[in-house]
Amino acid sequence: MNPRIEIDLKKIGHNTRVLVNMANKRNISVTGVTKVFCGMEKIAQVMADHGVILLADSRIENIKKLQRIQIPKLLLRLPMLSQIRDIVCYTDISLNSELSTIEALGQEALSMNKRHQIILMVDLGDLREGVLIEDTISTVQHILKIKGIQLIGIGTNLTCYGGVIPTEDNLGALASMAQELESRFSIPLKFISGGNSSSIYLLENNQIPKGVNNLRLGEAIVLGRETAFGGRIKDTHDDGFVLKAEIIELKEKPSVPMGEIGMDAFGNKPKFEDKGIRKRAILAVGKQDVSPDSIRPKDQNSAIIGASSDHLIMDVTQSDHQYRVGDEMAFKMDYGALLQIMSSEYVHKTILD
Ligand SMILES: *Cc1c(COP(=O)(O)O)cnc(C)c1O
Repeated sequence: MNPRIEIDLKKIGHNTRVLVNMANKRNISVTGVTKVFCGMEKIAQVMADHGVILLADSRIENIKKLQRIQIPKLLLRLPMLSQIRDIVCYTDISLNSELSTIEALGQEALSMNKRHQIILMVDLGDLREGVLIEDTISTVQHILKIKGIQLIGIGTNLTCYGGVIPTEDNLGALASMAQELESRFSIPLKFISGGNSSSIYLLENNQIPKGVNNLRLGEAIVLGRETAFGGRIKDTHDDGFVLKAEIIELKEKPSVPMGEIGMDAFGNKPKFEDKGIRKRAILAVGKQDVSPDSIRPKDQNSAIIGASSDHLIMDVTQSDHQYRVGDEMAFKMDYGALLQIMSSEYVHKTILD
């Protein structure tokens, strides 16, 4: 079925193991983040089989798909007040920053005869979610009075919005805050959750401050990339997910359109460089499926030259491969492309195992 994304579970398993080993060496556990693949159960199961201790997703719809996997589930995005019931029902832990939400979670948990566990998010400057560091102690004081709630840790998220890079300094502040909370309130904090795939470079350089004991990893596992500087992680695969699309036209054509140039289908005025006659393949995949800027052909002698909603146009003049109509071309992708493809009902999902 085309277009399709081929998912190589062995490669995802290998990447998970490499990252879990790397983290465990520093006494850090790994939470496997499933949102980029929409919580697909088989992939999440592979993460669980290779050593992650929690599964996490930003959406409750995805977490519902993970119920048969026997490790705790964590909600990454702050809970919506309108979803409190499902959150208490389907997750064990949620990340939080609002007292009113935590109170609602506590009430719901009590009504279900449960205790809901929370990790308080602390904003270390990236300005997405979290209480400011100066408000942390007073917030914890309140949380500890809320029935039905167990505070099991503090955490932070960096790089996603403000682009702030995790450092020994800002993560160090999180670790000292945890220590202060533990001694001031005589509570154990099981999780000091030091961020996402942008913290991997600190792990590689052995610079994660002592005390930080968990990382929430998505991109590092699925694409083998750390996200502070965009580097590849040693000994991991970047092609656990591969997009395949089929050639529906293959012809030699000029490289500059003939006629007066107006707006293209997306309201941009395209520009063209005259490279003479080129061999071009049109593939049956388009901007509705994936942004063409976010995928790279595996055939390094081919190049993407454009796309419309349902067509991807490739220059294959330099390719060593004698393509024919009906052949497939393969593409690696970045995080945005993977998210878009996994969310698209038009791209078939094929698991290789
Ligand atoms: C998405 C997300 C992660 C995982 O991010 P990656 O860059 O994919 O590792 C971790 N924590 C939170 C709160 C998230 O929303």
